[in-house]
Amino acid sequence: MKKAKYVFVTGGVASSLGKGIIAASLAKLLQARGLRVTIQKFDPYINIDPGTLNPYEHGECYVTEDGAETDLDLGHYERFLGQHTSQANNVTTGRIYHTVITREREGAYLGKTVQIVPHITDEIKRRMLLLGNSGKYDIVITEVGGTVGDMESQPFLETIRQLQWEMPDEDLVSIHLTLVPYLRAAGELKTKPTQHSVQMLQQAGVHPDIIVCRTEKELSADIRRKVSLFCNVKPGHVIESIDAPSIYQVPLNMEAEGLDDLVLGHFRMECPRPDFTALNDFLDRLYNPEHEVDIALVGKYVELQDAYKSIQEAFVHAGAAFRCKVHVHTVHSEKVDSSNVGEVLGGMDGILVAPGFGERGLEGKVIAIRYARENGIPFFGICLGMQMCVVEFARNVLGYSDAASTEVNPSTSHPVIDMMEAQKKTTVKGGTMRLGAYGCSLVPGTLAHSIYGKDFITERHRHRYEFNGDYLPQMEKAGLLASGRNPESGLVEIVELPSHPFFIGVQFHPEYRSTPENPQPIFVRFVEAAMTRRQDVRGNDLCRASE
Ligand code: GLN
Repeated sequence: MKKAKYVFVTGGVASSLGKGIIAASLAKLLQARGLRVTIQKFDPYINIDPGTLNPYEHGECYVTEDGAETDLDLGHYERFLGQHTSQANNVTTGRIYHTVITREREGAYLGKTVQIVPHITDEIKRRMLLLGNSGKYDIVITEVGGTVGDMESQPFLETIRQLQWEMPDEDLVSIHLTLVPYLRAAGELKTKPTQHSVQMLQQAGVHPDIIVCRTEKELSADIRRKVSLFCNVKPGHVIESIDAPSIYQVPLNMEAEGLDDLVLGHFRMECPRPDFTALNDFLDRLYNPEHEVDIALVGKYVELQDAYKSIQEAFVHAGAAFRCKVHVHTVHSEKVDSSNVGEVLGGMDGILVAPGFGERGLEGKVIAIRYARENGIPFFGICLGMQMCVVEFARNVLGYSDAASTEVNPSTSHPVIDMMEAQKKTTVKGGTMRLGAYGCSLVPGTLAHSIYGKDFITERHRHRYEFNGDYLPQMEKAGLLASGRNPESGLVEIVELPSHPFFIGVQFHPEYRSTPENPQPIFVRFVEAAMTRRQDVRGNDLCRASE
């Protein structure tokens, strides 16, 4: 079996520099050069996974095919590589400690004092090498969350230090991402934060092979020389990562900077040149729109751009399919009421009601759905958004005024959305929802069937509540159709309104599967329906992109 080679990506100076995008871009470049690549993320927090975290803390929780609740960077990995990740691709400090402490209780370390070094670092090492040892990959890229200097990151850096000693030099590359800020008043780019960051990395015993500098201005030869000199890397190993108009541009920028050549040179590997025809074609469609639409994203985490990351990205992919710029307007569902709904949503060409948990902002979602239903505005509900369109229909069409989900109103006389039987026995919160990919049979002749163009699909789930099947006959009779159901359990996965131009609610999360090269079909058809709506309502000219 050929041994895998390892790339470690650490970060310094500030968070949100785009370590995940750099890791994903390098992975994309190496994949395009014919290598089998995977990316994994090691997160320094104590939670076992981000599944129990509020999006305000950590952005979106990204769900994999195998039902792992993971960091949103895994979404970038999948979107860039067009390949699935799994539980093994995201490990937290909590998971590491949980394994070690469980083993201690089982007596695995009898007689020994269990310590960070070597027991915790050995477990980190085991997991860092796990995918590489599977024989499925030539290259494993590991992104370490947080920044150097964080107390929580130390065991991860210590493990990389050990690996740098244990592995032949040509099997491991260490990349450090930093910020080179531009000081407007001084009119200069500053390298000192990078120098300090690298010092801190070296104090932990890790030496960088390549430094990637995030910057808003081009790095001069002088700045590159300075970083090389002070930060102990070879000249030419300082890479510029300049702000890009789209994250999907970054792989091309990294190629222009020669990041892939540096890594392959270090590994003593020779690979063919990459072919980026498909990516260039996507970027051309993205950068040169001929149409535009306005879509409302109705949710409760509007202040935070990462909370609905995969949905936002799915709109980028679907829009590009039509050379259509999709303006996504996040609308705070707590601020929508019957008196202002027309004002807030009247100008929209489509309305998407977002996934979520709990009561806050729920009534605003129901009002937004009613507005979309009654005014023929293309509507797309995802998970909680689908559940609320069932509630809205029950209240305003069937006349069950207190219809609700038992998630927020356990004593409702019409529990149209109710907890799944299997969930009722669950007492533990973490990792116990209906998670990951499940099958769904589509009813021929429905919108769902025409969107997917097949009888059977799978999509990823993350929920505890479900459409209550007792209400299905009445709902269907009144016009809300169950067009997709799980073949084993009979659970309703998709509802739609055939009498409406475009109205669909899905219990699953289609956004997780969307990639630039394979935009998710419901998003594609929703954008198309929004374009049609705009044309019908505003006339041809207004559908043309203004830029
Ligand atoms: N809170 C709802 C449930 O648990 C919906 C979840 C979601 O939107 N992901 O069923």
